[in-house]
This record gives sequence, C-alpha cells and structure tokens, in this order.
Amino acid sequence: MNGAIILWDIDGTILRGGGIGQRTLEKAFREALGDGHAARVDLGPVPFHGNTDPAIIAAGLELFGAPVSEAMVAAIAERYLAILGAEVARENPFVRLPGVLELAERLAALDFHQGLGTGNLEAAAWLKVEAVGMRQRFAFGGFGSDAADRAELLRIGRDRGARQLGLVPERCRVVVIGDTLKDIAAARAIGAEVVAVATGGESHAALADARPDHLFESFEDVEEVIAAIT
Ligand SMILES: [Mg+2]
Repeated sequence: MNGAIILWDIDGTILRGGGIGQRTLEKAFREALGDGHAARVDLGPVPFHGNTDPAIIAAGLELFGAPVSEAMVAAIAERYLAILGAEVARENPFVRLPGVLELAERLAALDFHQGLGTGNLEAAAWLKVEAVGMRQRFAFGGFGSDAADRAELLRIGRDRGARQLGLVPERCRVVVIGDTLKDIAAARAIGAEVVAVATGGESHAALADARPDHLFESFEDVEEVIAAIT
C-alpha cells in the first residue's frame, strides 16, 4: 500500500439509480406513517444531493409533521433497506457511470487503499456498489449510518482505512471523490484532497466555484484522472 486513502462517494459519482432512492424512501414513509399520511408523502422538497440518509429521513419527518425521534428515523431506515433490497432483487436500476470501474482498478494497481465515503446507510451503500459489480473494490467506509454529518462520516471512514493500513489517520494522504458541493466542503473539513466530478447533482461551473483540487466532466478519460491524482 502507498499509504494513501481514497473515499468514494456513491450516488452521482459511482452510479445512478434513476430516482429509486427517493421512491423507495417515500414508500417506507407511507408504510411507517400509516394511511393518514399516504397521500401527501412527497420528498420532493427535501434536498437529496450530498445529504445523508438519516438527515433526509429527519427532514422528511419534519416535512410531514411527524415527530422526529431516533427511533422513528431507525424504523423508517429499516423499512427503506428492506424495500430497496426487494426492488433491486426484482429489477436492478443502478447504472455504473463511465470510467469508474476502470479508475478504481487503476487506483488499486497503484496501491491506493479504497473505501466509501457516503451518506448512504451502510447496508444500502454495499447493496448499491454490489449492484454495479464493484463491491470487491472497497475495503471499508464511512456511512450515513455512522453519522448524519458528512464531515464526521468521512472522518470515521478515513480512520477505518488508516487502521487497516496500520497508520495514523492524520498522517495519511486522503483523497475524497464526489459529485456535490457537500462532498467538497466535508473533504475540506477533514483536511482531505478532493476530486470532483460533474456526473451527479451539481454543474461543472458550481463545482469549479468551490475549488476542488481536481474537477472532471466525467471519469471517462481514466488516464487523465490518474495523472491528476498521482
Ligand atoms: Mg453524490
């Protein structure tokens, strides 16, 4: 290992799910909140991009006028995971974005230690990367189920990666790869480098304004990305 840790965001960075996350979560809310809420469960006003699952669920509860408690967030999360698993088993909606598998393989060959840094609940994160054939590329992660705050979950992911390498986290080179302004801000908050890609929720111009270390329209040209990171 070269002692460098990569933390990959999932949605909009590695893959796209065509809105299955929101649809599935709305179904989980309908089941959990009961008939009185069924007609007005629309998570449209809740920002999904770059947000963590627990924060999205809490925002949904608030939006629907339901009490926000840890138990309620956990109950909806559990339903969400069950429905997501069943939906993906029935018809896998996830599409891998161009170049990401090749990029992860090249980084592995260069001895980067790769994990996930994602707002997804851990079980949803592994299910999604499995659905696009990349489960074995990632050895660890920081997840939405670890912390609702994105910087905090990146820190947890980094620490797990460093522990696997037997290194002190603060002395590791850490590179965050993500598609939103929140990925960039959270990476900065833990002192990490950040590679932004405009394949998800944010425009190239908006990402450029946040001054990531590197910015790509997509990861189609893998060698260009490798040259920037190495
Ligand atoms: Mg994302």
